[in-house]
Amino acid sequence: MQIIKEYVAAKKEKLKAAIADKPGMRLMIVQVGHVPASDRYVRNKMADAAEVGLECGLISVPEDISEAELLNDLDALNKDDSVTGYLVQLPLPKHISEEKVKLAIAPKKDVDGFHPLSKTVPATPLGIYNYLKDMGYDFLGKNAVVIGRSNIVGKPMAQLLLKESMNVTVLHSKTGDADKRNYLANADLIVVATGHRHTLTADYLLKPSAVVIDVGINVNDDGKLCGDCDVGLPVAFQSPTPGGVGLLTRISVIENLISLSKN
Ligand code: NAP
Repeated sequence: MQIIKEYVAAKKEKLKAAIADKPGMRLMIVQVGHVPASDRYVRNKMADAAEVGLECGLISVPEDISEAELLNDLDALNKDDSVTGYLVQLPLPKHISEEKVKLAIAPKKDVDGFHPLSKTVPATPLGIYNYLKDMGYDFLGKNAVVIGRSNIVGKPMAQLLLKESMNVTVLHSKTGDADKRNYLANADLIVVATGHRHTLTADYLLKPSAVVIDVGINVNDDGKLCGDCDVGLPVAFQSPTPGGVGLLTRISVIENLISLSKN
């Protein structure tokens, strides 16, 4: 497997060419308040857009904006023909329903792919899937274990792998440890998206040929970013955090925007 940073750099060159071929595309990011981690994600997404020559604007609204006002702003974006697509950076303050926000984004503008009627696929599983596919990963008939069943990562990830005829098992917080051990011991591909450190440790018997994709973003005891998996697992490939799935997610946001522009 190619180092993700190198893969993403090469992919950005291709995106640059696609964007130059189709001028006028515009991405908007809506940010509510200022969660420090979100500030970083938004900055990174804007930097990526600039790097590939994509116009990207930021709508920053105060943390105490009412849900109704925010939904109104999204309605205006849905109707604005100068905006190709947009995303609302999560998480949102507690007084705003994430579900309502996801449903308020018109599918034709849904860069994150969170609306159930969107043709776009959520950017994180899409980025992982495209990476594996571009690496020539042989999905057919192999065993995949996805840990986590959220609507934005685990479930769409499982769907994409099923589509490639993998034998997919989805584990979650109610999976017992003995079952988890059994499934993991037979897994060829493991995608971990729980948001909890040490979900996958060297204590679990894994196939030496296994590929592990770590989606989680956590902070370790030294205040540094880390994934859901312990580093250095005895497998063929393990994606790093940082420098892994986050980069794949960000290029998929841009790919989703390009695909929306074709509708
Ligand atoms: P989420 O909505 O909180 O879902 C977490 C899932 O993990 C749930 O299905 C939960 O099970 C399951 N789970 C929790 N603890 C578990 C455990 N000990 N064993 C097995 N399953 C467990 O989170 P999410 O949005 O999917 O995100 C997951 C992680 O990925 C977070 O750290 C998030 O920050 C990160 N993330 C990273 C990127 C990126 O670009 N790198 C993008 C998206 C998300 P139940 O359903 O039973 O509660």
